[in-house]
Amino acid sequence: MCGIVGYIGKREAYPVLIKGLKRLEYRGYDSAGVALLNDKNNLRVYKTKGKVADLEQYAADKDTSGCIGIAHTRWATHGEPNSNNAHPHMSFSGDLAIIHNGIIENYAFLKKLLQQKGIKFNSNTDTEVLVQLIDYIRTKKKTDLLTAVRIALRAVIGAYAIAILDKNNPDQIIAARKSSPLVIGIGQDEFFLGSDASPIIEYTDKVIYLDDKDIAVITKGKPLDIVDINNEKTDHEVKTVDINISQIEKGGFPHFMLKEIFEQPDCLKDCMRGRINVEADNIVLSAIIDNRKHLINPRRIIIVACGTSWHAGLIGKLLIEDFCQIPVEVEYASEFRYSNPVINSQDVVIAISQSGETADTLAAIELAKKKGAFIYGICNAIGSSIPRATHTGSYIHVGPEIGVASTKAFTGQVTVLAMLALALGKERGTIDNMKYVKVINALSEIPAKMEHLLEQSDNIKDISRIFTYAHNFLYLGRGYNYPVALEGALKLKEISYIHAEGYPAAEMKHGPIALIDEEMPVVVVATKNILYDKVLSNIQEIKARHARVIAIVSEGDDTVRNLADAVIELPQTEECLEPLLASLPLQMLAYYIAVAKGKDVDQPRNLAKSVTVE
Ligand code: GLU
Repeated sequence: MCGIVGYIGKREAYPVLIKGLKRLEYRGYDSAGVALLNDKNNLRVYKTKGKVADLEQYAADKDTSGCIGIAHTRWATHGEPNSNNAHPHMSFSGDLAIIHNGIIENYAFLKKLLQQKGIKFNSNTDTEVLVQLIDYIRTKKKTDLLTAVRIALRAVIGAYAIAILDKNNPDQIIAARKSSPLVIGIGQDEFFLGSDASPIIEYTDKVIYLDDKDIAVITKGKPLDIVDINNEKTDHEVKTVDINISQIEKGGFPHFMLKEIFEQPDCLKDCMRGRINVEADNIVLSAIIDNRKHLINPRRIIIVACGTSWHAGLIGKLLIEDFCQIPVEVEYASEFRYSNPVINSQDVVIAISQSGETADTLAAIELAKKKGAFIYGICNAIGSSIPRATHTGSYIHVGPEIGVASTKAFTGQVTVLAMLALALGKERGTIDNMKYVKVINALSEIPAKMEHLLEQSDNIKDISRIFTYAHNFLYLGRGYNYPVALEGALKLKEISYIHAEGYPAAEMKHGPIALIDEEMPVVVVATKNILYDKVLSNIQEIKARHARVIAIVSEGDDTVRNLADAVIELPQTEECLEPLLASLPLQMLAYYIAVAKGKDVDQPRNLAKSVTVE
């Protein structure tokens, strides 16, 4: 959450910062702000409620000169999303400006202390407490800024990625992190700072990912200096990022979300490349080869995740239990982290997170690690915190996902879970060879089938127009398609603000059927699998109560077509892989309904990508 950008070098900072903020806007868009410093020690802060475009407008007639600056796009945690609470925040002396991602949990205590010392506050944020504290230490103890930052951070409980400008030092930015990501880009006599690499890649592919409790002193014309809060030097490998600009631009699509929906066939090819060998009927996951002794015979597997990743985890459970005969539990990371789970070194924990920065999932990993479990990460963002905190793992390799509502990351996660279950089942001898070969072949055919499915987008767009009136939707599915129903409902909620619930179809009669009337559309995944007849009866029950049914059916299914109000046909595949196809029309349905209702699909209200706070 929240985007941080910084620049120091020979260019004018403002255009670099604005462009960077736009790239990071998916992380938060309550307000935006920038602090600029020129070599005449002239520090200016411009900030405003709203989006980066509002900031641009606000700053249009102002002095934006300076070759050093920091900028922020906020996802408010403490204090209303107004201009006053927007970052950067200034310290009482007027010397320091700070931007912050995260939460200072003991801010109320620190604020009271500082107020008792006579310091006045200008905002309701936790962030301002940090900059006032740093300035207080600096002036009181007459220390340099780095020392003040180190002392202040030792007093802070919580999560932070921060960048600070000091009016008296126009050649320096100080940045630090704990539990919130921060990347430094290294150019020719210039440095860039970002919450992720997307604002940086245009200028350099050389980056350093800061570790927890690192403090970086970024000085123009000098090598990077990184210390920990005890002032011990820390070493960092310079990494090369492998993201190109086209991956983070819309490429002719009206929204990132639509682009990402349409990218799925290619993304899944990338996800499977080098891992599935159809000629040899084989799957190779290096994580399994390298960690055979931990993975081959665990007592059980616990999947921890949040949101869409949790839905992928539910599908993972079915796949792993079916192919590997290992008991699997799926937990919300946010609940798991505060529980006292019975875990030991015989357990494997699979942590799933698109961003690799999800705060709750990271905390769940730490807890499981402490208890001795072996941790396997499934993430998208390369070099992010979760891959670094886990023992092993597999990237989903679907490229940057910018739309706040996750689409291609979900199908990427399910694909990795399917490959993991197949490879592990094969190693354990718990999957029958014929089935193994059949599912591998079916998996390799998914991208082509997705292409075919995406050709129905106009049909889905037409269907969506009919249903924009609804205030509530019900999504039903069974077996492998129950998590698909949950995910479909979540997509609709997130971007159209229509209330939607996902249920296992048979549970409908235990409660939700009371809600059904002609006003309430019901989306039913009714593909021709082992539970088809049961779901067919559910459709009859819904129609008997005059609700409208949108059915996701197998190609050529006339029975449901004659019952339902709208149908979307899926190409045939193995039942266990149906979620990879069935989720696409539900993504498109949510997308087109939200667009028809005039909603901001890529930046839905109150949400942000990469949930780096609890
Ligand atoms: N907690 C800070 C605030 O509410 C930072 C939030 C963010 O990460 O954008 O201002």
